[in-house]
Amino acid sequence: MVLSDLGRRINNAFNELQRTPTVDSASVDQLLKSVCSALLESDVNVKLVADLRTKVKAQVSAMLNDKSASNLSEAQRRAKVQKFVFDHLVQLVDPNYAENNAAAEAASSSDSKGGPSAAVPQPPHSSGPSDIFKPKKGKPNVIMFVGLQGSGKTTSCTKLALYYQKRGFKTGLVCADTFRAGAFDQLKQNASKANIPFYGSYTETDPVAISSAGVRSFKANRFEVIIVDTSGRHKQEKELFDEMREIDAAVEPDLTIMVLDASIGQAAEAQSRAFKEAAGYGAIIVTKLDGHAKGGGAISAVAATRTPIMFIGTGEHLTDLEPFRAQPFVSKLLG
Ligand code: GDP
Repeated sequence: MVLSDLGRRINNAFNELQRTPTVDSASVDQLLKSVCSALLESDVNVKLVADLRTKVKAQVSAMLNDKSASNLSEAQRRAKVQKFVFDHLVQLVDPNYAENNAAAEAASSSDSKGGPSAAVPQPPHSSGPSDIFKPKKGKPNVIMFVGLQGSGKTTSCTKLALYYQKRGFKTGLVCADTFRAGAFDQLKQNASKANIPFYGSYTETDPVAISSAGVRSFKANRFEVIIVDTSGRHKQEKELFDEMREIDAAVEPDLTIMVLDASIGQAAEAQSRAFKEAAGYGAIIVTKLDGHAKGGGAISAVAATRTPIMFIGTGEHLTDLEPFRAQPFVSKLLG
């Protein structure tokens, strides 16, 4: 099931709950059945789905047994149940959401004890790209990209370079992909289109040497964001991971980003774990969310590696890169 259908199915389940006269465990079970089967059909990991079901059920049962909530109207109860499900969906795509949500709730409950901002409950914080990584002005910030071949790595490197260039950073691209024929030409073409300086070689075959030299040269010229595109392979292989570790040691990135194709389904989870072990990336870019991706595999990868999504790729153009924020993403998904 593609991601937009997932949103529609969950929305339908919410509408069905709206039509039930009372919120009780039977109507909530029906809601959860529909929500969970939609998530499973979208390739979200079985354990994550089971966990969502258990937690929402526990929250609902606490609400139904809570005497102080007995004066809630049915509409208010429905809204609460929807909020429980919504929060768990957000948590699926934002590993930090639970902590941030708890902190926001604690703050708003202490505010309601009479603080000056008591009348303005703060929404739970949903982290965006600059919460994950904020390049420092006037300093070299090295970002290394990793991912499988075809995931959209080279395209995403240029998209990100353009993103930072537009925000006033002096930005350069290094092509350390010596494995795929034509990778340098592709990067060169994209970079030229976007007017971004690039570094690469047609003759040097050692990716570690190229990345070191590229980063050194950009640093010497006071570049502020230096993005290194490394090579991918068709699958996780020892050589790929060894190479990634060597490049990592040579360029000492401030941030490593893994690029994940949203359409690879359940394989995303194992792949992300393997890359996490080898490259210790700190952020994810999920690509091809404009297509017919199920997306659930990518969602499961986020949860499995507890790594936040920083951006999503929504097309082949260099401007098709959207900062990722979990709450607006889920709200939009649900339409
Ligand atoms: P790499 O091998 O990982 O460097 O992958 P490329 O950057 O060459 O991308 C592989 C293909 O995916 C190319 O045809 C890209 O245009 C396409 N692609 C990359 N990102 C996106 C995206 O967000 N949406 C769509 N529809 N296509 C994308």
